[in-house]
Amino acid sequence: MSSCAEHCDPTRRSVLRGLARSGALATGATLGWLAGEAEGAARNNDALQTDAETAALVESLIAVDMHSHAAGVNGRPAPTYDLAARLRSGGMTAVCLCHSADVPVIRREPDGKVVTVRSPHPGELWNHTKKRLAWVDALVQAQGLRRALKRGDLEALHADRAPAIVQAIEGSQFLEGRLERIGEVFARGVRQLQVVHFFVSEMGDNQTEPATQGGLTALGKEAIAECNRLGLVVDVAHASMAFVEAAAQVCKTPLLLSHTAIAKRDDRMQRFTRLVSSAHAKLVAQTGGVVGIWGAPLAYKTIDQWADGLAHAADIVGADHVGMGTDNSGFGALPGVWEDYADFPKVVQAMRRRGFTAAEIRKIAGGNYVRVFNRSVRA
Ligand SMILES: [Zn+2]
Repeated sequence: MSSCAEHCDPTRRSVLRGLARSGALATGATLGWLAGEAEGAARNNDALQTDAETAALVESLIAVDMHSHAAGVNGRPAPTYDLAARLRSGGMTAVCLCHSADVPVIRREPDGKVVTVRSPHPGELWNHTKKRLAWVDALVQAQGLRRALKRGDLEALHADRAPAIVQAIEGSQFLEGRLERIGEVFARGVRQLQVVHFFVSEMGDNQTEPATQGGLTALGKEAIAECNRLGLVVDVAHASMAFVEAAAQVCKTPLLLSHTAIAKRDDRMQRFTRLVSSAHAKLVAQTGGVVGIWGAPLAYKTIDQWADGLAHAADIVGADHVGMGTDNSGFGALPGVWEDYADFPKVVQAMRRRGFTAAEIRKIAGGNYVRVFNRSVRA
């Protein structure tokens, strides 16, 4: 599940990180935490130094988190940590960094459910998106991040060892029916658009509210056509299965379903779940697309359990159609199963323990996303 909640309910780590970086706090508690952080980094390096096979694999593969709210992108006034440094430390290439378009009108309840609290004022969600685009511009500049914008960029960024983002937006409520705004956010660097999120949009039905629009609407089809025309990855996370069936028919590029988990038992799925059935996941795979497995703490408690979720997904759709979509910082006060990109080598170790081959890890960690990205964006 992804959310809104980071700006209002940050984790202790991100608070301390932000305070420590701002120089506002140098208490014993903070210093203790910083020592823990340094120790964690050393452990991480140790893992690479003592595990040559993992180190070689991490060094050679392109790793992309397909859905992330890292560093406070959803609503923090300033970045909460150095995302570029963490990507570099973990040997990762990129995160698809997204702000949620409907943040001003949704809220995470104490039970974890996300609810719509009111209708937006005219222009409100577009103004919110413009502010977050400016925030990402500042982040990119301050941290020396680069953006993947065109075909081949992810491979080139990996070759340069340059930490990068694929800029993304979760939910297209900022459009307010005006499709030309897709071109406006494209011009600002956005290359991935998730069509629906929690707040009901005019694009079609999401998974978490009653379906009233028959799946994908005419406007939703036009939005997908505009993404295809300009060259954006089309993300169908949060969309109902009927929406995905229709999107698979009209979208000219492989679909991304960036963050979810595949239900263990289709016949036991609850109403309004953010999990998907096997059939739903296969629809995405049949377009040549990728299903991202999510680091949701309610679904997985540890990195090893998350690797089990990857294995379950690979059993259903094949290793060519599975990816990583952590939704980092998207769970309110609860941390995801791996929040820190410096831990990526540990993730690779967990995948190896789970029995994935190097070739499979290469695909799941980013190779599959690179395929979808390159087929979606322009040369
Ligand atoms: Zn989400």
